[in-house]
Amino acid sequence: MAETLKSVRGMNDLLPPESAKWHYFENRCRELFSRYGYQEVRTPILESTELFSRGIGEATDIVEKEMFTFPDKSERSMTMRPEGTASCVRAYIQHSMHRKEPVTRWFYSGPMFRYERMQTGRYRQFYQIGVEAYGVAEATVEAEQIAMLHELYSSVGITNLEVLINSVGNSEDRGRYRDALVGYITPFKDELCGDCQRRLETNPLRILDCKVKTCKARMNDAPSILNSLGEESTKHFGEAQSALTSMGVPFTVDARMVRGLDYYTGTVFEIVASTKSLGTQSTIVAGGRYDGLVESLGGPSVPAVGFALGVERAILSLTGDSEEYRSAPDVFIVAHGEGTSPIKLALGAELRGAGLYVELEHRVTSMKSQFKRADKLGSHFVVVIGEAEVESGVVKLKNMQQRSEEEVRLAEVQRVLSERCGE
Ligand code: ATP
Ligand code: MG
Repeated sequence: MAETLKSVRGMNDLLPPESAKWHYFENRCRELFSRYGYQEVRTPILESTELFSRGIGEATDIVEKEMFTFPDKSERSMTMRPEGTASCVRAYIQHSMHRKEPVTRWFYSGPMFRYERMQTGRYRQFYQIGVEAYGVAEATVEAEQIAMLHELYSSVGITNLEVLINSVGNSEDRGRYRDALVGYITPFKDELCGDCQRRLETNPLRILDCKVKTCKARMNDAPSILNSLGEESTKHFGEAQSALTSMGVPFTVDARMVRGLDYYTGTVFEIVASTKSLGTQSTIVAGGRYDGLVESLGGPSVPAVGFALGVERAILSLTGDSEEYRSAPDVFIVAHGEGTSPIKLALGAELRGAGLYVELEHRVTSMKSQFKRADKLGSHFVVVIGEAEVESGVVKLKNMQQRSEEEVRLAEVQRVLSERCGE
């Protein structure tokens, strides 16, 4: 026997009925984001490596150890995108969006790739849906994005969540904070994990983001970044908070949250869900302001803010069985006997043409097994066509919920069903 092949470690197949749950969630995002004026952008999965090393930052976990990078046939270094923001910024610059409109609002949806240690809610190919707004320096825009997320999760029934916000300030503020942090850490630096000892030299703020328990514990008493913010950053962060309050969105200020990517400036935020199925991977959304990124990637100086949500983690937080998200057939056509097949096919075509979801059996099987399948699929109606029905031109129409039955002329079936299913 031939050896069976398996998918690559950390990369999952998505099968029905689970995919119905995904459609439900993705459709909610599309519908909601467009009501806030965000339009979809699609960028390639493969980009030149330089985009991410310059965009995300050389000294980040993603660029240091998580990227799927390989040379193409011309020995150019290519990377499977690990996140969406750098690609969006590249596209924003490449298509001179700032000349076309003062404010650009985009969303994207698709797979991202990171070579990570796998756990529940942490994969090597995972899906993100993200939002980016360019051209608005005012803090109300990040607050509105958070409010939009709050609406999204409430509307799909994920309510046990917490919005965490913080400010990482501008580069001057961060310079001050960096000094304060290094001063705090240096006395016990030998107790930190190897990664953090290195981070102390390259990027001390990343230490606050370390997942290692001992490092985490050591950082509990670290100085607060909020004490290092200058007047301008403090004012901006205050405005973000008032805007959230105006929109009725509850939030918590978490001064330890610095986010794992280098490009953030000013407001950063996370949404954390307390769902058991997520295990320790409880962050379902992460985002913030990155006013310097467009310019640092060769574009004009344009402020920007955005977030990315993890689709797998959102799906894990959804209660309810996948089957509940699958739509049931409006009608199942049960047919058996001489001469019934052409009538079944013609009726199926007519009903589908009228916009109904129609199931029928192609294999030659008994009426009983067809009824069983109709039932299993949760069909609302069943049309029964047997030899007698072919003869009379009148078929049986069963309402499966009410367990009632009536006789309907074949020519009337579409009209009757369209009426009933439209109710
Ligand atoms: P984490 O701290 O969990 O590693 P992160 O800071 O690396 O997250 P971002 O890069 O900001 O996360 O991504 C935003 C969201 O995408 C995360 O909050 C999470 O929901 C999701 N996400 C990130 N990495 C993965 C992964 N490997 N598998 C599944 N979802 C992920
Ligand atoms: Mg990560």
